[in-house]
Formats: sequence, structure tokens, C-alpha cells
Amino acid sequence: MRIVEPTAASIEEAARLLHEGGVVAFPTETVYGLGGDATNEHAVAAIFEAKGRPKFNPLIAHVPGAREAQRFVQWSNAADRLAAKFWPGPLTFVLPRAERSPIALLATAGLATVAIRAPSHPVAQALIRAADLPIAAPSANRSGSVSPTRADHVAESLGERVPLILDGGSCPVGVESTVLDLTGETPVLLRPGGATHEAIQAVIGPVALSAALPTGSAARSSPGQLESHYAPSRPVRLEATSVSPDEGLLAFGPYPPAGARMTSNLSPTGNLAEAAANLFAQMRALDRPGIGRIAVMPIPQTGLGLAINDRLRRAAADDGAKRRG
Ligand code: AMP
Ligand code: MG
Repeated sequence: MRIVEPTAASIEEAARLLHEGGVVAFPTETVYGLGGDATNEHAVAAIFEAKGRPKFNPLIAHVPGAREAQRFVQWSNAADRLAAKFWPGPLTFVLPRAERSPIALLATAGLATVAIRAPSHPVAQALIRAADLPIAAPSANRSGSVSPTRADHVAESLGERVPLILDGGSCPVGVESTVLDLTGETPVLLRPGGATHEAIQAVIGPVALSAALPTGSAARSSPGQLESHYAPSRPVRLEATSVSPDEGLLAFGPYPPAGARMTSNLSPTGNLAEAAANLFAQMRALDRPGIGRIAVMPIPQTGLGLAINDRLRRAAADDGAKRRG
């Protein structure tokens, strides 16, 4: 496995690997992606194999922009208005598969819909354009662990399972894209992410929140039902306003409680965009020997706070599985 600077030559090499059905890790503005040719069933299978995904979740197809997307999905008026505002950027649309769409069936888990997005990161854009292919790309980590926001996170998680990592530094948004289902009468937010619920509603009006999202009360009453997707290997305790000496504190804002073994502050000024960008790297940094549990201060449930709290609740919900081993 090689970690390389993104240059014209290394991007060409990555594009060649994609054409040969191989996988490549690359930076996006959200998190690092593990990319493969979305039209090649074997390449998509290679993504699942490298991630060690237990089941075939549908993947997001990455394209340069709205014009290219229309080859693969049945575009809509809402998609058009949202793309004008958010693309390229951290917003994924779920739309009906276009007639004769070449997207691999494995990439959509056999569904009649396709999840599609245009990433804004210049390296992602350059790679997609150089390959001239839609690129299926989930986060570039082994299944069940914390998403990578730096090239070294990818290397640590995937090792020799990925031949080439394009190193674009830290991902500026830091949480995954917002996934928006545009197939029904009312748009439904399936996953909170880098584009906020409020900003989307400002463009297209009411957007429902998926009933499957872990709200505060659901997280407490039925933790077993949450997908353990964003899990450090230590237990996670949410809404912490005080700490014990064996805990590592993931703080937010200017007044973290004292007494933790180690404290990492997502944003001392209480800025949610800064907190999102720091979230996964700081969760990793606290997930280390000498720390018994990760305590997390309350994060406001507005704007990017929705995405941050979603990832934190999933991380906390995995505690049962950790205790069972
Ligand atoms: P990841 O690959 O880890 O970024 O996750 C992709 C997200 O998009 C997951 O939450 C998937 O369930 C969701 N997704 C992808 N394709 C579809 C689809 N066709 N319908 C609904 N959700 C989808
Ligand atoms: Mg992931």
C-alpha cells in the first residue's frame, strides 16, 4: 500500500486502477472514500471485500455534477433545485434508477433506486473526471469502525487491502454526506450529514426525518436497534456534564468539566462546523489504552449538530455489543 500526494501522475495511476476494476482510497470533503468503478460488479464486490462489510449495503455513486448524474438516475425538479444550491457538496440524493442505467446492481443492493452525489473536494473531482466513470465509494475503513478523515486513518484501518491512497490532508467537513430520499411525495432525510436539514428545507420546503434515525429517546429505549456503524472500541457515554478519572472526555464549548484522564475539545468556541471536522479524529485519539470509557458532552441538536449527534448515538449504542465481546 502506498500513500501518495495527489498529482496529475498519481491521479492518472488511480484512474487506471479504477478502470482495471481495482479499488483506490481518495479524499472527499466529507470523509475518505474507498472507490471502485460503480458500473463494474466485480469492482463493487472488491469494495465490500476490502471493507469486510457483513452485508451488501447500497453505496453512493460519485459523479462530477448534475449533468452527468442524469445518465444514471431519473432526475427531478427538486434534485435540480437542490443541486444548484448544494452541488458539488455533501448532499446525496436517492432517486429512481434511470432506464438502462449502467450502475452495477450490487452497488444499489438490487434496489430500484440509486444514491448519487457530486463531491466538491478537488482531488475527488479530478479523480472522477480522469477516470470518466461514476465511482462507488463508501467510507475507506473496515466495516464497523470510525470513518477516516485523514490518509493515515485509512492506512491504519485498511492496510494492504488498499493499494493506493491519495493523500489530500484532513477532510474539511468531517462527517458523511446528508442522504435525502427524493423518490416519494415528501422528501425524507435518511441520514443527517454535512448539508443541514434547515438549509435543505430552505430550498425545497418540508423534509421529513426518517423514523429510523436515532433520536435521543429512541437511543435510550432501544439501543440494540441502532446500527453500530461509527464505533470506537471503548464504551461511549453521552450527555456527560461531569467526568470520572478513567474517562477520556470529548468536550464541546468553553467550559469542559475537569477531572478526565484526557480531554479533547471538538470546538472550544462551540462552533458546530469545527466540531464536525474534528469528530472522527478526536474519537480515534481518545480510543486508546489507559482510557476506560469515552464521555461526550452534550452537543446542540441544530444544524450540523444533527449529524454529529447521529454518529455519537450510533457509537454509544454499540456498548452492548462490546460488553458481549
Ligand atoms: P456509506 O457508503 O457508508 O457512505 O453509506 C451510504 C448511505 O447511503 C447508507 O446510509 C445507505 O443506506 C444509503 N443509501 C445508499 N443507496 C441507497 C438507496 N438506493 N436507497 C436508500 N439509501 C441508500
Ligand atoms: Mg462508513
